[in-house]
Order: sequence, then structure tokens, then C-alpha cells
Amino acid sequence: MFSIVFEHSFPYDKFFSGIIYFYAGKKHPVMVFNNYEFMAHKTGFQASKHGNSTSWRCKREPARCKARLVTSGGTMKIMNSLHSHPPTFTGEIGKLKPIRVKIVQKVN
Ligand SMILES: [Zn+2]
Repeated sequence: MFSIVFEHSFPYDKFFSGIIYFYAGKKHPVMVFNNYEFMAHKTGFQASKHGNSTSWRCKREPARCKARLVTSGGTMKIMNSLHSHPPTFTGEIGKLKPIRVKIVQKVN
């Protein structure tokens, strides 16, 4: 299990502002970021320490895509931005509600 510490990010992490979108999936909510779709798979696993956070995995995770995001309040941390495939979202992004978030990009 990785640990998420938004409040104590590494000093060399990059911060920027970005837009994410959500829509109701068949079973679970789906997040769209850069035209890739993510499904929630863990919620509040560090609720006691760092507030509620949600971990999102790429929709193509069964196809071994390792892209991962974590949201907590108005912040999103990019855990792994490397997709193994082209963008998956084919709908009309304009029909979804945009939400501006602070994005933390881990720098190795
Ligand atoms: Zn992917």
C-alpha cells in the first residue's frame, strides 16, 4: 500500500491547476482527466490521518494500464501518469461538469 501525504509532499513535487470531470458510470462514478477515464477503487483508506481520499485506477487497468490518481478534497495527486494506450473518453466533455483542482505531480 502506498501512502498519500498531500500535506507533506516532497519539496520538488510540481503543483499546478487543472480540470477534472465526473460522470455516473454503470456501477461507480467515473473521473475524466486529459481524456482518460478513471474508476474509484479505494475510498478513505487513510481517513483518520489525512482526511478522506479516493484512489482512482485507469479504466483499462484490466489491460495492465498502471496509471493511478488519488483525490483528496480539492487536490489530486498523480501517482502514475503513464498510460499504455490512447485516451479512452469518447463522449462530449462539454456535457460534463468541470471541477478545478490543485494537481500534485510527483517528480522522481
Ligand atoms: Zn490507462
